[in-house]
Amino acid sequence: MAGRFVDFSRTHYLGNLDPSMEGKQVTVGGWVEDLRKMGKLTFLTLRDVTGIAQVILAGDTAKSIEGITRQSVIRLTGTIQKTKARDFDFEIKSENIDILANAVHPLPIDPIGRLESDIDKRLNARALDLRNQKTAAIFKIRHHVLASIRNTLSKKSFIEINTPKIIGSASEGGANLFSFKYFDKQAYLAQSPQLYKEQLTMGLERVFEIASFYRAEKSHTGRHLSEFTSVDIEAAFMDYNDVMNILESLILETLQYVKENCKDEERILEIKTAIPNSPFEKITYKQAIEELQNEGIELKVGDDLQDAHLRSLGKKHTGFYFITDWPIKLKPFYIQEKDDDSTLSESFDLQHGFLELSSGGTRLHNPEKLRSRLKEQDLDPNAFSDHLRSFEWGMPPHAGWGLGLERLLTVIIKIDNVREVILYPRDPERLSP
Ligand code: ATP
Ligand code: MN
Repeated sequence: MAGRFVDFSRTHYLGNLDPSMEGKQVTVGGWVEDLRKMGKLTFLTLRDVTGIAQVILAGDTAKSIEGITRQSVIRLTGTIQKTKARDFDFEIKSENIDILANAVHPLPIDPIGRLESDIDKRLNARALDLRNQKTAAIFKIRHHVLASIRNTLSKKSFIEINTPKIIGSASEGGANLFSFKYFDKQAYLAQSPQLYKEQLTMGLERVFEIASFYRAEKSHTGRHLSEFTSVDIEAAFMDYNDVMNILESLILETLQYVKENCKDEERILEIKTAIPNSPFEKITYKQAIEELQNEGIELKVGDDLQDAHLRSLGKKHTGFYFITDWPIKLKPFYIQEKDDDSTLSESFDLQHGFLELSSGGTRLHNPEKLRSRLKEQDLDPNAFSDHLRSFEWGMPPHAGWGLGLERLLTVIIKIDNVREVILYPRDPERLSP
């Protein structure tokens, strides 16, 4: 990741240096990771965002940094030379070193990770936690995953949109919305871009959004956040099978991209990205119910799948798989029923083992049907008048899904807590930093 251009005060990123540069003078900067005095010599390990290097200081230069604390910021000029150190294949002999900022001692966590800190301590010092190579690797992978998703969807003619996060009416029911005062009105934080993205298919046909959304649920699990990142698509002239195909190829391309572009991060995290077989397995909701009944679980068609049920399914279906054709009454008002059985819907969840990664389906595009479905679900069509109006302007048939970015990242990084893969998590207990 080390680019050639660095910045006004450094000639190189540490990741750009190598033993073939012996004799060359460089100016580098970063954070003091370690410091050892051996007689008249001081050995210092310096880290920047790209890598690490050993610096050797003697005489007055060593004196000039006496007492420096670990994780202080320095910039130095020095010459690349051979080293006897086992862990490095060159070192920098420096005669000129500036301390740019001091770090306190002791720090709230050990950022090198020699002493394990619990997740709460790490989150309370999140910026410092990023100097831990494992944490930094997670967020570099997150960056690559986002880049890959944008690239894949753009190649498939999806246009990136940004919809409001401050909304004036509870868009899909609303028990789990955060509400607040907006001047003299009541407003809410959006729980999804659902209604907007549907409307926009009439002008842009294929749209996607990657953004934070908000759920006021008192969930204390490794898969729920109050503020999470959703990858949403919606596409005109598609049905649920089309958008399942898009979701599957997006997952496959993303994993391939991580495998090719995140080799350092995989090594640091001790993970190896495997490309799953395709097509992904598809089971219907009814098949899922039967499988669970066969295991002696008491459940009937029409019941929602609870956490324990999904865990049970996840033992048999360990990778990515779809659960399709859910009962219409378990789905939101905008989902279309199946042609051959109006009690079922053209809907799906993408699972990875027990974990739900995405929900999607074919949407209703007939405003009359939408109105009656709203009433069936005890929602007031008048509260949706702006939305319903747009359905009278030539709304194409359309379908889409929402994918939880943090949940997908936990699968890629093989970790079981979404708090690890979002910088500053929000949950019922955590509102800062
Ligand atoms: P769950 O039942 O697991 O709480 P959901 O069915 O309520 O999820 P959807 O409304 O279907 O969630 O949202 C689409 C996707 O967004 C989910 O499949 C999930 O990946 C992600 N997601 C939803 N809520 C959260 C949350 N609170 N924290 C993290 N990701 C979430
Ligand atoms: Mn869902």
